[in-house]
Amino acid sequence: MSSPPEPEGGRLIFRSETFAADPGRARRAPTGEIVTEAARNIPLHARCDVLVVGGGPSGIAAAVAAARQGAHTILMERHNHLGGLSTGGLVIWIDRMTDWTGQRVIRGFAEEFLDRLPAGAVNGPAPALWGTRDAASAAWWAARTSAFHGIVTHSPTCDPEAMKLAAQEMVLESGAELLFHAWGASPVVTEGAVRGVFFESKQGRRAILAGCTVDATGDGDLFAQAGASFNDDIDARDIHHCMNTSWLFGGVNMPRYQRWRAEEPAAFSAFLQRGRERIRLFDKAFASWRDDVALFMGPRLSGYSAVDVEDLTAVEIQSHRLMVEHLALYREGAPGFENAFLMLSAPQLGVRHARRLKGVAAVTRGDWDGRVRPDEIGVSPSLSPKFPNVSVPYGALVPERLDGLLAPGRHMSCDPNSHSFLREIPQCWMTGQAAGVAAALAVSQGVAPRAVDVAALQAALRAGGAHFSASPAAQSAA
Ligand SMILES: Cc1cc2nc3c(=O)[nH]c(=O)nc-3n(C[C@H](O)[C@H](O)[C@H](O)COP(=O)(O)OP(=O)(O)OC[C@H]3O[C@@H](n4cnc5c(N)ncnc54)[C@H](O)[C@@H]3O)c2cc1C
Repeated sequence: MSSPPEPEGGRLIFRSETFAADPGRARRAPTGEIVTEAARNIPLHARCDVLVVGGGPSGIAAAVAAARQGAHTILMERHNHLGGLSTGGLVIWIDRMTDWTGQRVIRGFAEEFLDRLPAGAVNGPAPALWGTRDAASAAWWAARTSAFHGIVTHSPTCDPEAMKLAAQEMVLESGAELLFHAWGASPVVTEGAVRGVFFESKQGRRAILAGCTVDATGDGDLFAQAGASFNDDIDARDIHHCMNTSWLFGGVNMPRYQRWRAEEPAAFSAFLQRGRERIRLFDKAFASWRDDVALFMGPRLSGYSAVDVEDLTAVEIQSHRLMVEHLALYREGAPGFENAFLMLSAPQLGVRHARRLKGVAAVTRGDWDGRVRPDEIGVSPSLSPKFPNVSVPYGALVPERLDGLLAPGRHMSCDPNSHSFLREIPQCWMTGQAAGVAAALAVSQGVAPRAVDVAALQAALRAGGAHFSASPAAQSAA
């Protein structure tokens, strides 16, 4: 039985809210030519126990967790900030820490990180409201992306700068070392295992050797190059494969805009219709962490590849142009946007999907029945109240055959339907924490990641505040 997926916060998003790329667009013809690069010796920059490549939600959680386990840990990030899409991508709406009963099921690193943010940096419902079906509360928070299916959830929208700073300080406080402006270019692989990474920087090509490498690039940059099997099939009905560059408008009056939307729905629909007639790709504004800033996380573009440099460029150009066109239309027709200005286009392009690891285990549609996986590393809220919480197995981070590497975050092992929610930020914090602990244990136990003692992993995660479906006793009996 497959019901239409309900991506991005349980709010049904129909095909009309994704926009297909123009199949006839001009593409650079492949040259078919090869340029030979002379073999060369690469300076070894460092050795460590755990190397995490990619400083997004999964990478920061992995680095903090590995360092707290006592591993000598290095976190490498290509940009000048941490947080990945949740900061540089302006994906500042943290979609969903609680299940449909209001229980916080994404805990551990994620909880500590959010609790660390200063008061003014978080816009979300108070804990007392989590899980309530009170109609007025649900309507209020639905307009602020913290209520779905008539239920209020812990899905705050946060200040990206506060999240960047919190991530940086948590990583440094954990004892992990940080490398910004370092692009993990290719894995060092010997005898079927990843031994570290060659990276590019202003200092040229250098290498880091590690006991265990965590690929937290989001796109499987390292595991794919190391020859691990992966999937890249998508569900075209779902937005989980779309790309776009998000942006912020400043100088807005969101409470006025939201009142207009609530009190004059016909006028609002007419405004959207006019926008689509004028520019076809037209999207709605989201509430942000403050009332004078509006967030746009669309229009969502489909038909582009996240591992094709020409496509990435095309999406950036189109999104930037759409930002300017939206400004004109919102200023003209949306109450509260009369004085809006271009505040920021996201430094990181919004990629929802590129590759998904083929792991020794996976989360698939069949697992949405409440079963508890024996190697559970955490629990994900389900897509909608009609499904129980979903148990996430350690095996979904472990490549089928490749050793020396773990792959948490949005490229973990799952089917397209499950990717729809497992790619979300809370789930990436959760799988990242698990990958960090497991990588540290693999090095300290002197075993391959696939041979890590799962009971020891679960015990360490519990000690780190992670939430599980069942008590330790019930877990080991599962
Ligand atoms: C437009 C959009 C809207 C979304 N909306 C929501 C939402 O509302 N709520 C929600 O919870 N989730 C949402 N998501 C999903 C969510 O943001 C991501 O799936 C999540 O951030 C993935 O975390 P990650 O750590 O796996 O990867 P990423 O966040 O992509 O982080 C990867 C990091 O690795 C770095 N990196 C990549 N390659 C390399 C390399 N080779 N070397 C060094 N560094 C590298 C990147 O610079 C980045 O910092 C949305 C995603 C998009 C694109």
